[in-house]
Amino acid sequence: IGDTMSNSISQQGSDDIAFHMHPYTNAITHASQGPLVITRGDGIYVEDENGKKYIEAMAGLWSVAVGFSEQRLVDAAMRQMQTLPFYHLFTHKTHEAAVRFAKTLIDLAPVPMSKVFFTNSGSEANDTVMKLLWYRSNALGQPNKKKLIARHKGYHGVTIASASLTGLPGNHKGFDLPIERVLHTTCPHYWREGKDGETEEDFATRMAADLEALIQKEGPDTIAAFFAEPVMGAGGVIVPPKTYWEKIQAVLNKYDVLLVADEVICGFGRTGKMFASETYDIKPDVMVLSKQISSSYQPLSAILLNSRMFDPIADESNKLGVLGHGFTAGGHPVAVAVGQENVNIIRERNLVQNAAVTGAHLQQRLAGLSDHPLVGEVRGVGLIAGLELVTDKAAKTALASPGQLGTAVGRKLQELGVITRNIGDTLAFCPPLIINAEQVDTLVDAVTQALDATQ
Ligand code: PLP
Repeated sequence: IGDTMSNSISQQGSDDIAFHMHPYTNAITHASQGPLVITRGDGIYVEDENGKKYIEAMAGLWSVAVGFSEQRLVDAAMRQMQTLPFYHLFTHKTHEAAVRFAKTLIDLAPVPMSKVFFTNSGSEANDTVMKLLWYRSNALGQPNKKKLIARHKGYHGVTIASASLTGLPGNHKGFDLPIERVLHTTCPHYWREGKDGETEEDFATRMAADLEALIQKEGPDTIAAFFAEPVMGAGGVIVPPKTYWEKIQAVLNKYDVLLVADEVICGFGRTGKMFASETYDIKPDVMVLSKQISSSYQPLSAILLNSRMFDPIADESNKLGVLGHGFTAGGHPVAVAVGQENVNIIRERNLVQNAAVTGAHLQQRLAGLSDHPLVGEVRGVGLIAGLELVTDKAAKTALASPGQLGTAVGRKLQELGVITRNIGDTLAFCPPLIINAEQVDTLVDAVTQALDATQ
């Protein structure tokens, strides 16, 4: 399985190599391989500098719900730019766009939420939640209640604090992370982590027992919150096993540990409901939203806090004089105006319903690949799916070098005009919510072709 990328690098490509440092990129191989230069987008498609068109099967970075050419978002941004291009929310100031969108989000929330705090990225939002949890524990006179539990393979961002929550070695190695106070419990990946003969329900019971054992070992009074994505995204699209969430929620309730649902990927329809907290019937105290909140046309994230979370923080800010936290661009008027219009579109065009219906078609078509010799497991819900590749089905192993098989199939797909993301040997699919059944068929046909060509 060789490197099939073309070696011709354009002027833009070589300028990129010369002047630009990329996130999540090997800087040395980048210099020889060069970038894929994307120039425009249209619906579920993007186009590169050579005019080649791709199905963007990852919606960018799990984010462009309404597609890549939504004029209404452009108009919303323009209107806001013309009226009030910037204002801030510090020291009792506000603006109409933030107020309106905060109200929209509270109305939309699947559980009673008290307030919205705006930030600019998923990482910033999780980082903020961590600080607010510590502030809350101090407010409640529980200065030892500061530890946070996340999960192996969870993804919560890349700031010092949020990267510590993230449970992927690649985000810790070389950075001296994680920081203290952050602990990780087991990852609910049944297909890979389940024991021989263990049912999905038994596996979920074991996962909840692991969490409980960790809480007891550390001391229940020291644990502030549990952070989790309802469906794990960047860790490999890991769908929770049956009964997992009800068992986890019961442990959290038993020990007065708050639940932070990181819905940065799952929110706004991805799993076939507006929020995955509805799909899995969980009752988070805090919800973290980003990405599809604005279809990523503007950087935006939002934290929804219930009164259990907000009220002690409000009291503490009164005691200390001010909440000493906030970002210049948090709740940027253009970003929240785009967010508002984006949510309007998601509702008017029934995109959540489309994620459920067209998502079921995607899951069914991908499930049809289960018998392929290179497919270990197919998993997903709504319009998010993962295809875990193997070369030895019985042993559940791929090539000796982890990720090599996934990279090879991903490259082949790119040649065939599909952009996906290989997370190690798992191919992730998370297309725009506007995708239709025919486009799903084209996508899955290309996946089949890429798998066949890689055998
Ligand atoms: N949380 C989850 C679940 C994510 O998937 C991501 C990004 O992929 C983040 C947080 C971090 O968001 P950002 O990249 O905007 O900082």
